Amino acid sequence: RLATSIRDLQKHYVLKSETVKALRGVSFDVPEGDYVAIMGPSGSGKSTLLNLLGCLDKPTKGSLMLGDDDIATMSDDELAEIRSERIGFVFQSYNLIQQLSVVENIQVPLYYQGNIGAKERARSIELAERVGLGDRLDHRPTQLSGGQQQRVAIARSLVNDPYFVLADEPTGNLDSVTTEEILTIFDQLNEEGRTIILVTHEDFVAARAKRVVRLKDGKLHKDEINDEDSRKA
Ligand code: ADP
Ligand code: ADP
Repeated sequence: RLATSIRDLQKHYVLKSETVKALRGVSFDVPEGDYVAIMGPSGSGKSTLLNLLGCLDKPTKGSLMLGDDDIATMSDDELAEIRSERIGFVFQSYNLIQQLSVVENIQVPLYYQGNIGAKERARSIELAERVGLGDRLDHRPTQLSGGQQQRVAIARSLVNDPYFVLADEPTGNLDSVTTEEILTIFDQLNEEGRTIILVTHEDFVAARAKRVVRLKDGKLHKDEINDEDSRKA
C-alpha cells in the first residue's frame, strides 16, 4: 500500500481519421490512506483514468507510479501481475462467479499466484467476517442480496492487500439503505488506513470521500478536500 503518483497523464485513442485525446495531461497524487472520489461529466475521461489506474491500459504520455513501479514502462505480463496482486477492483455489477461460494469468490485473486492453502482460506474467511458475511461462507451469489454480493466483492478486492481499492460506481445498483451500508464499509476500511479510489456521479456518495477530483474534457477541473464535518453528516 504505497502512494500513487500521476504526472501529466495523457491517453490518446487513435481512430481511423482522428485522434481522441481522452486525457490531456492530468496530475495528482494519491497518498496512502486517501479516499478519492472521481467525478465528471460523461466523456470527461473517468473510465480512461480508471483503466490506467487499474493497469488495464497504458498511458500515451506521462507517468503513473504505483509505489516504485512506473506502469508506462511495463510489459503486458507485468501489468497483468500488478493487476492481480496489487489492485483491488469493485464493480457496479459485483462481477462474482456464480458457481463459486462466498469464500471461493473472495479467493479468486489468489488463484493467479498458485495453490490456495489453509492460510489463504483463513484469510478469505476473515475477510468475509470483516464485511459481515461470516454466516454466509458457503452461499452462492444467487442466494445473497445485492448488498451482500457487493460485500463479497469488497472482501475479494482486499485479499491481496492491494495498493488501493478501485471502485467503479459501487453503489449504482443498490437501494439507498444498502448503499449506506456499503459506504459505511468503505468508511471503516479507510479509517483503518485503506486507500480507496471511487468513481461516482452521485454527490452524496462523493461527499463520503476525503477528496473529490473532478475531470472535464480530459483535464483535472477541480481537486477539493471534503469538509470533515459534512463527511460525517
Ligand atoms: P467518461 O468515463 O468520463 O465518460 P471516457 O474515459 O469513457 O469518459 O471517454 C473519454 C473520451 O475518450 C470520450 O471522448 C470517449 O469517446 C473517448 N474514448 C474512450 N474510450 C475510447 C476508445 N477505446 N476508443 C476511442 N475513443 C475512446
Ligand atoms: P444487505 O443489506 O446486506 O444487502 P438485506 O438488508 O437485504 O441485506 O438483508 C438483511 C439480512 O436478511 C441478510 O442477512 C439477508 O441474508 C437476510 N435476508 C434478505 N432477504 C431475505 C429473504 N428474502 N429471506 C430471508 N432472509 C433474507
